[in-house]
Amino acid sequence: MGEDPASRVYVRNKERACEECGIYSEKYALPEETTQEELLGLIDTLNNKTSISGILVQLPVPKHIDEKTIINAIAPNKDVDAFHPVNVGKIMVGNYDFLPCTPAGVMELIKESGIDVEGKECVVVGRSNIVGKPQAMLLLHQNGTVTICHSKTKDLAAKTKNADILVAAVGIPNFIKGGMIKEGAVVIDVGINRLENKKLCGDVEFETAEKIAGAITPVPGGVGPMTIAMLMKNTVKAAIINKSK
Ligand code: NDP
Repeated sequence: MGEDPASRVYVRNKERACEECGIYSEKYALPEETTQEELLGLIDTLNNKTSISGILVQLPVPKHIDEKTIINAIAPNKDVDAFHPVNVGKIMVGNYDFLPCTPAGVMELIKESGIDVEGKECVVVGRSNIVGKPQAMLLLHQNGTVTICHSKTKDLAAKTKNADILVAAVGIPNFIKGGMIKEGAVVIDVGINRLENKKLCGDVEFETAEKIAGAITPVPGGVGPMTIAMLMKNTVKAAIINKSK
């Protein structure tokens, strides 16, 4: 909904990924002034449309729309973002259908890199419902010892410097400096920030961090593409789940 330039890019990338994977997709680019009732009406139609397996409302929504109401309106079995409270609860108890795409992408990167989470000090900076909190839960499921940091955390650098695996999901450009990282740590940068010169950068200051880290993800090109890949995975899973119903 609306004109958010970043959202347009994200939606376009998701459409392209669907095309590449052979997943049928429909895009509804709703004008800013669309009412909440109209949006809820569209979600209801898609919830009941058997040819549609997964529904994603690109966030953020305009201010006059209540984000929670929208998330709650998506049928949990079509909630490929895994933001619905039913799916959040399922993740909490470790018995889930869908994982939220960004944290799942981070876990996939860790796994594919041959990094064992078990017993590691894992520090997640950021506690949003869509990244930080589920990220911490997924690391915990893999037997990491997890610390969650946020804007009220005292002496953040002491916490981050203790991390064997550090996940930054803050939304502040170059926030985590090399001096805040433990020698040899795995550093995963979820942040996508656009600078005044229009360039993208992460939450980690790559130039100083790469000298200290044992492994580090770039921005762009690190977690971002993994997020989209996990969305495709969730969509296929939703198709299988919904077909068997
Ligand atoms: P939010 O703004 O929802 O959350 C940011 C978190 O960072 C909050 O928990 C906040 O703490 C914490 N924070 C803010 N300032 C500080 C500080 N000074 N010290 C420690 N913690 C701080 O952001 P999101 O989680 O939605 O996104 C985070 C970043 O990840 C953004 O750059 C976003 O663009 C990017 N992103 C990337 C995706 C991808 O596909 N790669 C997908 C989703 C997001 P508090 O709770 O106390 O306010």
